[in-house]
Amino acid sequence: MPTIDRRRFLAGSAGTAGLLSLGAFGPFGPVDALRALPAFGQGASPQAAGAFTLGVASGDPLPDAVILWTRLGFNPTTGLPFAGESHDVDWRVTSDAAGAVVVAAGTATATAADGYSVHVDATGLSPDTEYHYWFVAGGAEVGGTTRTAPASTSSPSSLRFAFASCQSYTAGYYTAHAHLAQEDVAVVFWLGDFIYENGGGTGDRAHTGGECFTLDDYRTRYALYLADVNLQASRASAPWVVIWDDHETDNNYAGDDQADGAPVDEFRARRAAAYQAWWENQPVRLPKPTGSSFPIYRDLAFGSLATFFAVDGRQYRSDQVCGDALVSTCDDQFDPTRTMLGPEQEAWLFAGLRSSTTTWNVLANQTVFSALPLAGNYNQDQWDGYPVARQRVIDVLHEPGVANPLIITGDIHAAGIADVHLVPEDATSPRVATELVGTSITSIFPAEQAPIVEAIVGQLPWGHYVNAHDHGYTVVELTPTNARAEYRVVSTTTATEASVRTDTTYDVAAEVKAAPTTTTSAPGTIPVVTPRFTG
Ligand code: FE
Ligand code: CA
Repeated sequence: MPTIDRRRFLAGSAGTAGLLSLGAFGPFGPVDALRALPAFGQGASPQAAGAFTLGVASGDPLPDAVILWTRLGFNPTTGLPFAGESHDVDWRVTSDAAGAVVVAAGTATATAADGYSVHVDATGLSPDTEYHYWFVAGGAEVGGTTRTAPASTSSPSSLRFAFASCQSYTAGYYTAHAHLAQEDVAVVFWLGDFIYENGGGTGDRAHTGGECFTLDDYRTRYALYLADVNLQASRASAPWVVIWDDHETDNNYAGDDQADGAPVDEFRARRAAAYQAWWENQPVRLPKPTGSSFPIYRDLAFGSLATFFAVDGRQYRSDQVCGDALVSTCDDQFDPTRTMLGPEQEAWLFAGLRSSTTTWNVLANQTVFSALPLAGNYNQDQWDGYPVARQRVIDVLHEPGVANPLIITGDIHAAGIADVHLVPEDATSPRVATELVGTSITSIFPAEQAPIVEAIVGQLPWGHYVNAHDHGYTVVELTPTNARAEYRVVSTTTATEASVRTDTTYDVAAEVKAAPTTTTSAPGTIPVVTPRFTG
């Protein structure tokens, strides 16, 4: 039976001002008696009440279902993580913000084996509809807002979504999340680096404990991040589609046998722990992982307007060449067996792209896809380090049957917009896709390098925008004829409150691809990597 104490929760008020001011309180906030919770709806702040100190989330929306998530956090009495075998958590979905008109309900069990997380697949919902959802345990109640996807047979006139990545807790405050929570978007794509595995940090944004290796380490790290009320507000405001990058496990790891020179068995055990903790803490429509291999790639459709392919560029990739150094090229870089996605995921992606009939096809991806020569050198952790695998993707994106590819990207802690060309460093070759690289929520791009990189990228013939000094997120509105990206940046991440503004707006017109009349490039064309800058 639940023995959840309910005496502490965050005393928040609805609206942006109350939400922002909560940032300074940390995981527990003011002690208060349980009281009637305010109506929870769009724009309201979440109430991290009683056992629910880690908030709520929803994700992977379908036309008739959405995953609802919560994790029982700290015991409010002791301040320690939850213990005991299991706790019942009642849930319900309502059509109204007051939580009265119930359309689905049930009881989930939060078990120790799953880190006291629950994943509820709420089914029987109506398409393209906003819902409110609620969890109740130990007399405390929390809620969030979510939305189902449009029906597969529908033709939506627009879809607004956001994407974000890279929220090192030690790098600053989640002011961007406070504003993301206020955006009117149907879905949020999280592109990786939800946690950082390293130790360090100072003051009230220090990582507790050192580098994460064990399941307990990772669980504790997620708990630290999820206790942030701005992150809670953002996760509670819309369904998320979450993929991981490297820092959910280990910086710049590749595959299952290359990281920090650790023995293979040791790293696989670490990977299994990291993957389990990731699953426990994300609102994903995925079965619980059973070891160090965990397929997370998946696609989501939004009527005739868009299909999103959420990929995993980390778990299956070949090791970075040249010891992951910033170098021009390496002998085996063009080995055609080198892979970013692995053969199975690549086949899945190509089949999905070829069978998609939607106006837009969005690759939700971790690392920068466009060519990014830096004084003749390349970041070998990006797609630049996997040129043959990248060309295989480009060739499929270029096929006449694949309509309007967009690539959304995280990882690099800097924002950019670039055209992806058939020959990546030849802007006179056909434009195949547009890549929208989002900046980080908080994670640092070295300040001394920012102006240099901005100057270099600003001269790339296929580049349209670069900002290596701000933090924020990106909002995209898709219509049958246009994609509009709005790059939001916050005024600061070193204080708990910030303003937000739009740094740039960029439009991509939808094209109707003509039926093939002439032969284009031969499949498997390898780009000529010519250093553009010397020094
Ligand atoms: Fe990052
Ligand atoms: Ca990364």
